Amino acid sequence: MKTTEIELRRPLIIPVFIPQEGCRHRCVYCDQPTITGASQASWSPDSIREHVRSYLGNCGRYPVQVAFYGGSFTLLPEARQRLFLGSVQEFLKQGLVHSLRLSTRPDAIEASNLRFLQNMGVKTIELGAQSLSDSVLKAAARGHSSRDVCEATLKVQQYGFETGLQLMPGLPGDSRETFLRTVDKSIALSPGFVRLYPTVVLSSTPLEHLYRRGRYRPLSLKQAVAWCKEAKQRFASAGIPVIRTGLQPTVTLEQPGRIVAGPYHPAFGQLVHSSIWSDRISPVLKKASIQSQRLVIHASPYQLADIRGHRNGNIKRWMTELKLTSLETVGCSQTGGGEFRVTTP
Ligand code: SF4
Repeated sequence: MKTTEIELRRPLIIPVFIPQEGCRHRCVYCDQPTITGASQASWSPDSIREHVRSYLGNCGRYPVQVAFYGGSFTLLPEARQRLFLGSVQEFLKQGLVHSLRLSTRPDAIEASNLRFLQNMGVKTIELGAQSLSDSVLKAAARGHSSRDVCEATLKVQQYGFETGLQLMPGLPGDSRETFLRTVDKSIALSPGFVRLYPTVVLSSTPLEHLYRRGRYRPLSLKQAVAWCKEAKQRFASAGIPVIRTGLQPTVTLEQPGRIVAGPYHPAFGQLVHSSIWSDRISPVLKKASIQSQRLVIHASPYQLADIRGHRNGNIKRWMTELKLTSLETVGCSQTGGGEFRVTTP
C-alpha cells in the first residue's frame, strides 16, 4: 500500500491507558479509571512493548497508532513522557507502528514540549476541551478557559500535529444553545476530528454529590441523542469527522452502581446514527407508503444496521406509523455511503 493511501485511512489504535497520570485537577465528572476501564497500571517499557505486540499480531495491514490515553500526557515529568514514548520507538523504526497519539489538557501545551513530541514520533494530539463556554468550564472545575482551548489548538496545528477535540455535552450549566455554540466555535478551529462524550454521573465524583443534592440534572438519553445528532450534522457539513459518540462500554463502567445517572447507552453512537437516518428516510417512506404497504430500503451494506436502528427500532416504528405490512432492508454495494433508495418488492 502506498504511503498516501495509508495516510487517508483512519488508523487502528493500540490504546495504552494511563488513567489520571500527570493530572493535578479534579474535574467534577472525572473518574478516569472507570471511564477507561483501566486500573492505575504501573507500566514499564517491557510491559508496554508486550501490550503493543499483543495487538500487532491481529492488526493486519492497517496503519497503526499507539495512543496514550486517559491522562494529561504533557503534564507528566519529561522522564516519564520519555519512558512511554521511548518504549515504542523500536516499533516505529520497524514500520510496525506508524505514529503515536496522546491526549492532554489544553492548558498543558508548551512549544518546547511539542518539539520533543514531534521528535518522538507523535502525530496526533487530542485535547480535552469539553466545552468552549467559560461558565461551563468553570462549573465543571476544569481549571482552564475556552481561550486556552483555542490557543492550544492553534499551537498544536502550527506544529503540524493532527488535532482532535473531545467535547462533553450536558456538563453543569450547559444548555442546547451553549453546546451548539461550542460546536460552532470548535468548527472554527478546524480540528482533524472530534469525539463527543455526553456527560454521565459516575459514582464517587463531585458530580454525584451535586446530583444527589439536586444541583445538577443530567441530560435524558433523548436529549443527549438530539444534541449529538445536531452536532454531528454541523461537523459533517464542515467536513470534520466525529470519530466517537458516547462512552466506550467497558466491564468496569457497566459494573452495577458505577453509573449513577445520565445518558449512558452501550450503543449510544448507533442511536445517534439511526436518528439521523430516520430523519432522512421517514419522509421518503411516508410518500412511498401512499402507493404500497410493502416497501424495501436499499443502501450500502455497511449502513443497514444503523438504518434499521438499535434492536430494529426504526423498522418497528416505521411499520407501525405507516401501517406497512412489510419493510425490508437490502444491501446494495453500488449505493454510496450516505445514499438510499426506497422501492416496492
Ligand atoms: S478529566 Fe482529565 S484533567 Fe480532569 S480530572 Fe480527569 S484526568 Fe484530570
